Amino acid sequence: MITLDPSPTSRRATPIRTAEILCVGTELLLGDIVNTNAAFLSKELAAMGISVYHQTVVGDHPDRLRTALADAFEGHGRPAADLVILSGGLGPTYDDLTKETVAAYFGRSMEMHPESLTRIRDFFTRTGRVMTPNNEKQAMMPLGCVVFPNDYGTAPALAVGDETHTAIMLPGPPAELVPIFREQVIPFLRKHTEGVLISRNIHIMGLGESAVETILHDLMVSAENPTVAPYCKSGEVRLRVTAKAADEAAAAAMCDEVVANILQHPQISPHVYGVDCDNVETALVRLLTDRGLTVSTAESCTGGMIGARITAIPGASAVYAGGFVTYTNDMKTRLLDVSPATIEVHTEVSAEVAAEMAVGARKNTGADVGLATTGYAGPGGGTEKNPVGTVYVGIATKDGVATHRLYYRQKSRDYVREAAASRIMLEAIRSIL
Ligand code: ATP
Ligand code: MG
Repeated sequence: MITLDPSPTSRRATPIRTAEILCVGTELLLGDIVNTNAAFLSKELAAMGISVYHQTVVGDHPDRLRTALADAFEGHGRPAADLVILSGGLGPTYDDLTKETVAAYFGRSMEMHPESLTRIRDFFTRTGRVMTPNNEKQAMMPLGCVVFPNDYGTAPALAVGDETHTAIMLPGPPAELVPIFREQVIPFLRKHTEGVLISRNIHIMGLGESAVETILHDLMVSAENPTVAPYCKSGEVRLRVTAKAADEAAAAAMCDEVVANILQHPQISPHVYGVDCDNVETALVRLLTDRGLTVSTAESCTGGMIGARITAIPGASAVYAGGFVTYTNDMKTRLLDVSPATIEVHTEVSAEVAAEMAVGARKNTGADVGLATTGYAGPGGGTEKNPVGTVYVGIATKDGVATHRLYYRQKSRDYVREAAASRIMLEAIRSIL
């Protein structure tokens, strides 16, 4: 991080509490590109405890950008932002005018920044390209700004502002914006936010977001610090507990107390598969590793998804024996010893067949746990008793075999398969625990 001119006016006097995201680019307005930068920045700012009340998109047009900037900083009838993060328009071409417009807003002149010019020249040499004169424009900086060098492209990022307003400008390409934000902007912002934030994620499956909200309503509404908020993600609910305190240890202790309370809740605890783990397969692999157990899979409607997800986790080789993808009845019988009579009486989509598949997978691989799925993922198929969206799962252990009937109403084929694969891994965790 280089400071062009550490004039006192570029130093903040008040902490940053609110922010607006202002993305610049006509392409965004035309729908040619999706605004992933706004989503990324919103998420990162929320995690830092900075409230984002508005996201704005404006075309490559200096007057409209100036108006949008003034609206963001001055409020004009809505909450004013302490911080505006701008994305895009830092490049070398004539329509890249973010820096100039922001500099003019703060009444700063544009100066050549020699370190940036050298870096841009080096970037061209390194990548074997010829630098055109307009690229020098990318090294022009508003007086008094803080420069964040760009190791991923040519246009440096920068911050400029006064005692109560900070504008941070980031290059548009996500491959540049994301690492610059993580490596340089977060440490910069930390100096201007109050306290430290720590979050823990409680992973919940088999309960919908509204059910979780109903059960924990009082806690969620009353909790101010730590805050408790649910997030829905591909058939799961994550409860994020976030605490703010003077230091990390204090914030962690506050989080952990609330997490421990939630984990003890009789309606929530049976549905929790982990805290701060990426996904249910990670939680399963961790648990199997801790217990020194192995697992095998027998998959019909999930077609190998469970095996694929388990083997995607580093360390899976110590806990995963292998699996069978048995789509036809004949394969279920030949590889998993499912009795033709069971299929005849109960059909292949039944608790009885799921049970025999799980037992067969366990026995024929020598694993400690056998997991099986059989169901109708749709869109065709299904029966009156077991319509599309019905999946039976079986979990065989040394103590016997358990089955569950899952039903996903009006969901896509992929959703049913993914959700059933997730759910059986949760059931496996439960049965091991
Ligand atoms: P460059 O030096 O590449 O011109 P820039 O800072 O001037 O960078 P833009 O010209 O506005 O940025 O955008 C460059 C590219 O970055 C776009 O073509 C697009 O691929 C990507 N991009 C820009 N804004 C966004 C955004 N909000 N979300 C996702 N991608 C974006
Ligand atoms: Mg550009």
